[in-house]
Amino acid sequence: MTTNLFTTLQASLAREPERTALVWQGRPITGAALLERAGQMAAELLAQGVEPGDRVAVQVEKSHENVALFLGALQAGAVYLPLNTGYTMAELDYFISDAEPRVMVADPANAAALAPLVEQRGGRVLTMDAMGRGTLGDGADKRQPASSVSSAGPDDIAAILYTSGTTGRSKGAMLSHDNLWSNTQALIQTWGFTGDDVLIHALPLFHTHGLFVALDICLATGAKIILLPKFDADEVIDLMAEATVLMGVPTFYTRLLANPRLTRETTRHMRLFISGSAPLLAETHERFTERTGQAILERYGMTETGMNTSNPLDGERRPGSVGHPLPGVEVRVVDSDGEPVAPNEIGGIEVKGPNVFKGYWRLPEKTAAEFREDGFFITGDLGTLSPDGYLSIVGRDKDLIISGGFNVYPKEVEDILNDLPGVAESAVIGVPHPDFGEAVVAVIVPSDTSSPPDESAVIAATRDALAAYKRPKRVMLTEALPRNTMGKVQKSELRKVHQGLFG
Ligand code: AMP
Repeated sequence: MTTNLFTTLQASLAREPERTALVWQGRPITGAALLERAGQMAAELLAQGVEPGDRVAVQVEKSHENVALFLGALQAGAVYLPLNTGYTMAELDYFISDAEPRVMVADPANAAALAPLVEQRGGRVLTMDAMGRGTLGDGADKRQPASSVSSAGPDDIAAILYTSGTTGRSKGAMLSHDNLWSNTQALIQTWGFTGDDVLIHALPLFHTHGLFVALDICLATGAKIILLPKFDADEVIDLMAEATVLMGVPTFYTRLLANPRLTRETTRHMRLFISGSAPLLAETHERFTERTGQAILERYGMTETGMNTSNPLDGERRPGSVGHPLPGVEVRVVDSDGEPVAPNEIGGIEVKGPNVFKGYWRLPEKTAAEFREDGFFITGDLGTLSPDGYLSIVGRDKDLIISGGFNVYPKEVEDILNDLPGVAESAVIGVPHPDFGEAVVAVIVPSDTSSPPDESAVIAATRDALAAYKRPKRVMLTEALPRNTMGKVQKSELRKVHQGLFG
């Protein structure tokens, strides 16, 4: 059987066409209606000149029409290319010149500015607003749903997602139909998804988490998706009475914990809380369990690979760990020569499996540099494997600090700082230093900004736990850590701000 993601999802939606697939602003949309709309989107894209393999770039607010557009692009055999709604015109210029989309679907407010950039490269701009309306929807309204599906097969590219590019330019990760479908199957099995599930979907639709993990699992199993434009703790708590699963980034969970309405009672109907895309503090995990009686299930993935590991559905969900490899996925932790390190020792995390992407768009050398000869992908994450096979992430290798020739893993220092009284959270970075090469600097968010902890007291408090070279040389205060939309702390921003600290 050829694995075309669209035909697979279509077959599952068509099995019980009158079932609600999606709820948007309180309005149920059946599987049949979603497929019909996807067909109209496909017909409109084809009429706009989209041919198999052409990129359809999409930078729009989240809506039900965005879901139909994703499916329609797949049906037409296009390469779906979602873009973060936060990208500026200068960033979009780069993505457009790199990806050369045949069609770019944009917010009406940006259409005029984007048109020359897109048209110069032979494409055209269509619009979609936060309600899903615009020239794309108007065009689709008039079309008969496309009856055919492109002949794209398992190894053809279904989507390109640009990496967040914290070092250098973003790279377009090419994901095949089989990359996406194999990962969907592994996750359905690991998390026990069925058609009885109801997912609260509060993640963005331009990132692997909200787009593939959340949508594909539900569309493939017949689970219902309650699609929210954004995360709102009160709204999410209200919906828990009728839902079974929440997929979130760690900030969702800290915001839920800040809400007194999060209780055992309000979460009673939920069977699973999933977290990923950024590290979940062990403390958040523990506080959530205390409050609700439910252990958050943390998993680990990335744009290039989809999901790699997960804590178990049945069995210990270990705080601070991202669990075991998913079925069919191999994970190893290695030294700089690619040799596996001993259990509990820190090394580079490498991954192999049907989930691993086909390469970076138009960058064969960069692609080759990220793979070992035996096919393992070098993730750039550092971690440890416990003797019983639980993976823990200690950070990105580029965030590793080398101070006076010694390696300092920021997470080890952050864990100590986060436990100190008066510290809400922290980020530890390396800052250029004339003697040490790099010096350890802690950026701290005080629990109470009116009486922040004293710098020398914080440094003194790390003395028992950390060797001198790991202790922060300076402690800087901030009201909030810079985070991207997926909740990841932007350490490159912090390094920029503090780079001149030591002259
Ligand atoms: P992205 O490609 O934007 O999804 O970012 C992927 C990166 O996010 C990974 O390489 C990790 O560094 C980080 N990440 C994802 N999930 C987790 C997790 N559960 N714990 C720690 N880091 C994570």
